[in-house]
Amino acid sequence: DAITVGELAQRMAVRGAEVVKSLMKIGTMATINQTIDAETAELIVEEFGHKAKRVSESDVEEGLKGGPDREEELQPRAPVVTVMGHVDHGKTSLLDALRKTDVVGGEAGGITQHIGAYQVKLPSDNRITFIDTPGHAAFTEMRSRGATVTDIVILVVAADDSVMNQTVEAINHAKAAGVPIIVAINKCDKPDANPDRVRQELLNYGVIVEEMGGEDLAVEVSAINREGLDKLEEAILLQAEILELKANPDRPGEGSVIEAKLEKGRGPVATVLVQRGTLRQGDIFVAGSEWGRVRALINDRGEQVKEAGPSEPVEVLGLQGTPKAGDEFVVVENEQRAREISEFRQEQRRQKEIAASGRGSLEQMLSRIKEGEVKEMPLVVKADVQGSLEAIIGALEKMGNEEVRARVLHAGVGGISESDVTLAGASDAIIVAFNVRANAKAREVAKRDGVDIRYYSVIYNVVDDVKAALEGMLSPVA
Ligand code: GDP
Repeated sequence: DAITVGELAQRMAVRGAEVVKSLMKIGTMATINQTIDAETAELIVEEFGHKAKRVSESDVEEGLKGGPDREEELQPRAPVVTVMGHVDHGKTSLLDALRKTDVVGGEAGGITQHIGAYQVKLPSDNRITFIDTPGHAAFTEMRSRGATVTDIVILVVAADDSVMNQTVEAINHAKAAGVPIIVAINKCDKPDANPDRVRQELLNYGVIVEEMGGEDLAVEVSAINREGLDKLEEAILLQAEILELKANPDRPGEGSVIEAKLEKGRGPVATVLVQRGTLRQGDIFVAGSEWGRVRALINDRGEQVKEAGPSEPVEVLGLQGTPKAGDEFVVVENEQRAREISEFRQEQRRQKEIAASGRGSLEQMLSRIKEGEVKEMPLVVKADVQGSLEAIIGALEKMGNEEVRARVLHAGVGGISESDVTLAGASDAIIVAFNVRANAKAREVAKRDGVDIRYYSVIYNVVDDVKAALEGMLSPVA
């Protein structure tokens, strides 16, 4: 257990020079970048009037999540689906229409509660879970916390409008997450609907549907007339079969927080999606840096339930604080353990926030590359005009070799939006801004998440910087 002088200073929120000075006082000569052992660090910490606490990640986190399951313990689980697409193409309408395909309650008395996700039961007895927040912002926000909740993305494209810029963003977000896409060509009831054009234009973005000789599934629907929904659900089940989605229900519950809020009279309420095991009333659990004891579980029909298994979304009451969307939850053996983990994570989060200031920076990326952690340099590229964008991408793609290379996750014309920043944040990417600026919200999120936005007005400089970074990335020759 060792720590650099600089990091120690950062954790105590004092200047590095002060730590160097007090090290000198106890006879240790060290510079900011040098490493000191845990004993020495403890002495210094006390010198500054802090209490030293040496908890390592492994002490607290080890064994928290159970080990892998045996094949025979695994049972099929429902696919979890997120709907994405351009504004006004019908995401919300489609989610509403799909909600009504549930055979348990039908239109009346069926899924009525908006808890952030719902599960429909089909006539075939199969189930599908839908995340109720459409769009890629929520999707990527969750992914930036490490949650991989979505098994399948439904890409809604209006047949009268075809592929638009948020359609392309959605494709790139789904691809960056490695999640398969099913295209729902919506508004096919409209007289000017042109599904062929949609299929054709999607080719440009690497989505090749069956009619075009590819393997991506596409279904023509009308959310308003509720047409084609059964076909869409069939396609989801087909894709789910290919993915072989399975989980062991007979173990303590684990999963992700879909949304969480503080409600008057109810306290902190979180909707969680169980991904492994079963969550039960009375269970003690940790969710992100919060903990709680399950006082009640409420499903998407507003009913109290005793338990929830894999792919089932439920509202959980009984939390001590409000976790964040994308936080992992896991059932633990007792309250003491829950408190310990929660305290440890809160401390860790504070430290991360301090360190976040440099996380996505080019310098940080360089050091991660040097340590062999990364072999690709992910980039989001935005430019003022298509010509520059293409020139930059062309130049970037020619760089690197089989060992390291630049990878453009997303590219587009226009200013830097919040969506660009969340995508970069979730993928540890750097944003290249060519003659464009970031809006206020994007700047705020970039600052919060430590995402590096690099501004350029000369293509040569972009190329130069990336080249230098890639060269620094090359593994040292042994
Ligand atoms: P979102 O922004 O993607 O969530 O889109 P909405 O679901 O809010 O739909 C945008 C508009 O398109 C609304 O006026 C809907 O009534 C309309 N709309 C959605 N689906 C269909 C459809 O299948 N056919 C027609 N004709 N209109 C639709």
